Amino acid sequence: MSKFLYLTLSLILLLNASYLSAEETSVVAKIVAKPLDIKGDWVQGGLLHGQTVPGNTVTVFGHSASVDERGRFIFGLGRDTKKRIDVEVKTVDGQSRVYPFDVEQREYDIQRIEGVAKKYVAPPKSVSKRISTEAAQVKKARKVLRDAEEFRQGFTWPLIGRITGVYGSQRVFNGVPKRPHYGLDIAGPIGATVVAPAPGVVTLAHENMYYSGGTLIVDHGQGLSSTFIHLSKILVKVGDPIVRGQAIAEVGASGRVTGPHLDWRMNWKNQRIDPFLLVPPMPES
Ligand SMILES: [Zn+2]
Repeated sequence: MSKFLYLTLSLILLLNASYLSAEETSVVAKIVAKPLDIKGDWVQGGLLHGQTVPGNTVTVFGHSASVDERGRFIFGLGRDTKKRIDVEVKTVDGQSRVYPFDVEQREYDIQRIEGVAKKYVAPPKSVSKRISTEAAQVKKARKVLRDAEEFRQGFTWPLIGRITGVYGSQRVFNGVPKRPHYGLDIAGPIGATVVAPAPGVVTLAHENMYYSGGTLIVDHGQGLSSTFIHLSKILVKVGDPIVRGQAIAEVGASGRVTGPHLDWRMNWKNQRIDPFLLVPPMPES
């Protein structure tokens, strides 16, 4: 066999082999690339991190999650999420499939609080317009949807202190059952610095809302936001980009409170999630 022929044959074999292996790779990729992979706390109040094929649409609780160019998305499980939920994945070619998941059900505490000012337990008619206007402002701020993913940098405590209220507890004010508590309460003196638990952009800064007093909302991207309430002072304004650890506000006792503390709430769209599940253990103060 001439040297030329040998080289030609080798080349043909080589090309053929690489062609075959490329095809094999793509077949394997099709099998391996899962349409849906979800990690996180499958519990009421939990935040889930998902992975799908880029371009797919993912729907949970009737809300579509924002799927990024790498196929990643998040969603949160509200306080009263049922034991079984469906995650719907729609592919680019229009095919859809529903994946059921189990959600751990929590038992919530009942918290009885006495000494709450009457105007907060049974607000006078004269403030009902103010209350609904403020609720609409909060709702609008939480609707902001940015492609940014600052939340991927993780969360730290916005204030170090004793935890005095937990997510989900049923509240009874002066013996009157009220809506559940969705925040994490951290005790602290008036004027103590509140720092950003994660980077984001300020979407609401209100000096004094009826129930929540000084109220600040920071959006962390893809529908995930933090709300800080009962503040005495807000150090940032709407539109400000903030970094983790930045001083954003001061602890107060404004609105419906019985003492100074920070109330930190988190939302994924309209689902209220538990901040406690996202932070490391509270450091010793
Ligand atoms: Zn609270």
